[in-house]
Amino acid sequence: MEGLRIAVSKGRILDETLPLLARVGIAPAGDIGRRLIVDTTAPGVQLIIIRATDVPTYVAYGAADAGIAGKDVLLEHGGEGLYEPLDLGIARCRLMVCGRADVALPTGRLRVATKYLNITQRYYAERGVQVEPIKLYGSMELAPLVGLADCIVDLVDTGNTLRANGLAPLAHIANISSRLVVNRASMKLKQPALEQLIGALEALTRQVADAPA
Ligand code: AMP
Repeated sequence: MEGLRIAVSKGRILDETLPLLARVGIAPAGDIGRRLIVDTTAPGVQLIIIRATDVPTYVAYGAADAGIAGKDVLLEHGGEGLYEPLDLGIARCRLMVCGRADVALPTGRLRVATKYLNITQRYYAERGVQVEPIKLYGSMELAPLVGLADCIVDLVDTGNTLRANGLAPLAHIANISSRLVVNRASMKLKQPALEQLIGALEALTRQVADAPA
């Protein structure tokens, strides 16, 4: 796997990604702390630690050869310049339209708060529904409660955040999990190293999927 730079994102995905990478022999050499480039126990393999939404960009431009990103982020980005060879099956959740449990949606133009503008526009365009998307960067659940939006498009895992705020799921858009993405040029130039990485992760995810619950 010599010579590979792999982009991973902070937070929830990193917590589930590091154990997976460790099992294929790629563990941070020492504390990550505030470092953005981290050498690993695999010779010549580096991790870069970036925001989840930036992973497709770094990989598409070849600044990282591969990366791990949520399907939500990939759908929003569009995936140009990327191969998506593997569903890692981690950080599973659903992308949903959610709204107030006690108030029906208006019949006219919908105001939809989300950080997924492209997905939201595509979803409603396909259904012929007029929307006014409102871009937010976090705590989407607040928007319908204070009259900023009629509904939200956001990730739902346990549903606890929705329930705690009097919201309910209204429609399912997509099942989400983390994917391995690979730069198209790297796939040719660094084929042996990338095939080794993909093969090792694939074997591991198959083992996890086959394990008794
Ligand atoms: P929950 O209360 O378990 O349904 O989680 C919902 C909150 O966690 C929302 O604010 C989501 O944006 C966030 N969330 C849920 N699943 C994920 C995930 N796989 N990756 C990142 N954020 C998530």
